[in-house]
Parts: sequence; structure tokens; C-alpha cells
Amino acid sequence: MTDRRPLDGLQTETLLAHLGRDPERHFGASNTPVYRASTIAFPTVEAMEEARADRFNRVTYGSWGTPTSYDFEDAVSALEGGHRAISFPTGVAALTCAVLSQVGPGDHILMTDGAYAPLRRLADGYLARNGIEVTFYDPRIGAAIEKLMRPNTRLVYVESPSSHTFELQDIDAIAGAAHEHGALVLCNNSWATPLFFKSFDHGADITVHAATKYIGGHSDLMLGVLVASEPLYVPIRTFASDFGYAVGPDDVYAGLRGLRTLDVRMQRHQDNGLKVARWLADCPQVARVLHPGLPESPDHAVWQRLYRGASGLFAIELKPVSKEAVDTFLASLALFAIGASWGGYESLALPVAPHAVRTAVPWDAPGPLVRLSVGLENADDLIADLERGLGHLSAAASK
Ligand SMILES: *Cc1c(COP(=O)(O)O)cnc(C)c1O
Repeated sequence: MTDRRPLDGLQTETLLAHLGRDPERHFGASNTPVYRASTIAFPTVEAMEEARADRFNRVTYGSWGTPTSYDFEDAVSALEGGHRAISFPTGVAALTCAVLSQVGPGDHILMTDGAYAPLRRLADGYLARNGIEVTFYDPRIGAAIEKLMRPNTRLVYVESPSSHTFELQDIDAIAGAAHEHGALVLCNNSWATPLFFKSFDHGADITVHAATKYIGGHSDLMLGVLVASEPLYVPIRTFASDFGYAVGPDDVYAGLRGLRTLDVRMQRHQDNGLKVARWLADCPQVARVLHPGLPESPDHAVWQRLYRGASGLFAIELKPVSKEAVDTFLASLALFAIGASWGGYESLALPVAPHAVRTAVPWDAPGPLVRLSVGLENADDLIADLERGLGHLSAAASK
């Protein structure tokens, strides 16, 4: 909440243990409790009016913020940089609110061709219908994005790495060009988390996390969070309040609890992801591994320059095989469940098809893509599972 304790100068691991909680306010309980509230009662009209005059800092109505949501938001913004954070019921809600709060009819948006599919649908549907034009650009465009800027370009959306295809973006260069032309930079930082990429050090004006993923970390909550620069914070918070976005009390509590272990989990996701990725790179069934942490990745230099680590989410392109062989491979895995989402403690595999989606840079790789979310299991167990599964793939392919 507003009177934060001095945590300046502390390292990330320490911050994760101490941000966003104040036991003295809660009978000594270590964790800020789940506050379930719609009505907030006041002793006098005067007290109510005084609190409401400062409604985004005070607790005045359930949907405008509780001690639990404020503590989560303060912790996220302290980790990310930026001014302050706003929590949302989903990552998609945070993304759409970020976009819709900043653009109107006649405005132009530059959106990476690697954008998360629901945002792309918003662009092709709602935004197009309402006179907001979106140009998709090559995720690896870098400083050349300058050539796509128009006088009415209001927003540049970056998502690094790309959903499904994992190209990294040179956000320094893109933000430089955007700001020179008076456009804002909206960054989807869900993959790296605030630990591995400090978006506000690289020019973000608004950053969104699907906290459903790594911040939650346990595949049991839906939550989004947006961090805004100072001039944008109150306008976006007002917009979110006008549209009635409120966050579930249990989910925001679980998001805050997820932060406590984020560093240890991300280290393990990184180590496991790299170990599995390196092993896959040598498999005869695999055409290539799309992971910016591998030295052979075309994005490795950008990753080393901008990022402090890699999470456990990446993709493999298999050598061309039938859909049936890919399906057999995925069904034969015992430790990788087949399912959407990612960032939980358990490993997941998902067939993805950028071929049908991409427009700025058509995806013409000949082989099918499988996205892996590498969890917290023992990496050798995961590798043994994949080895067995790839054996089934080969057997199905040679039938
Ligand atoms: C999952 C995801 C989102 C949306 O998060 P939800 O909480 O599922 O709405 C946004 N961006 C990316 C890159 C995602 O993978």
C-alpha cells in the first residue's frame, strides 16, 4: 500500500521474500491475507469522502483495490521498474486494457507478427471494426521499424520472444524509434518475467504479464498484471475501473505467493529448459530447436545483450512427418501433459501452427512445431521421457 517499507538497495532474492507484505498490519501473519470485500464501511460520511478522493491508494470499494491486490501490485512494480502496477482477472484483460486505453479511431498500431493469438484476433476484429489500423511487423525488425512509423502511430506492441516461434526482439532499438516518433511501447514480458528482463530499463511505457503463467507458477489461477509509467498509471487505472475490471481475491493472493518462489523456480526452469533443449538439438527427429539461449540461435546475441536469463518455454521444429506421427509422439509422453498455458511446475507439450497465422513474415518451415513448457521435474527424467516419445514418433513415421 502507500507507505512502503524501505527496500532500496536489496537484491532480487531478498526483495521477493519481503516485498508486498507487512505483518504488523495483519496480527503478525507473514502473508497479507485474502481480503474478500465489496462493501467497505466508514464511520462517517466525511471519512468516506476523504478516502474516495484517493481511491486508487485507499481501500474504498472491493473492485478498486484491497490490501491483497495492492500488495501484489506493489511487489510487481518494484521488480519490473515502472511507476505502479494494476492487476487484472486475466493476462488477456491486461493486454486489451493496455491497448484500448491508449488508442482510438484513426490511430495506428505496430504489432509484432509473433503476437499472442488472442491479441491478433482483437486487431483483426474489434480494432479493425472501430477504425484502428494495425500493421504487423517482422519480430526481428529492430531499428528498421522506423520505416513503418506513421504520424498517427500511437502504440508499438512488442512480445519477446514471439508466441510459438521464439524470435527475440531488439526492444532497445524498437523503443528508440517509437519514442522518437511519439509512440508508446507496450511490452508483453510474460516469458522472461521481471527477473530475466527489466522492461522499463529498455524503453517500455506499459508492460503486461500473464501472471497465470510463471508468476502464479502452479497452473491453478488466472491473473494478469500491468505496470505503467508514471504519466500513464492513473489514466489506465481509471480506464480499468470504468470497464469494471476487478481481480479475484484468491487469485491475487496466489499470485503474490507465487512471487515468493519465483527466483528459485525460474532458475530451475532455465536450467532444465537449456538441458532439454541441448539434448533435443542432437536428436535425429528434430530439425532445429527454437530457444534463444542456445548459441546457434540467431537470437542468441540479442538474448545475451538484453536478458538476464531464459525461462523454460521454447519450441522444436520436427523433421517433416505426418500429423498422426506428431500426435503419437505427444500422446506417448508420460511426463509432458498436452495442454494450453505454460509456466507451471509441471511440463507441457503443445502442437502449434504459426503457418496459418503469420502475415508479415510467412512461416514456411517445412516441419511441424511443438512447444514445450519445461517444468521443475528432474531434467534427466524429462529427457528419458522425450527419448521414449521420439522413438514412438519414428515408429509411427515409418509405418
Ligand atoms: C497466456 C498468455 C497471455 C494471456 O494470459 P491469460 O492469463 O491466459 O489471459 C498473454 N500473453 C502471452 C504471451 C501468453 O502466453
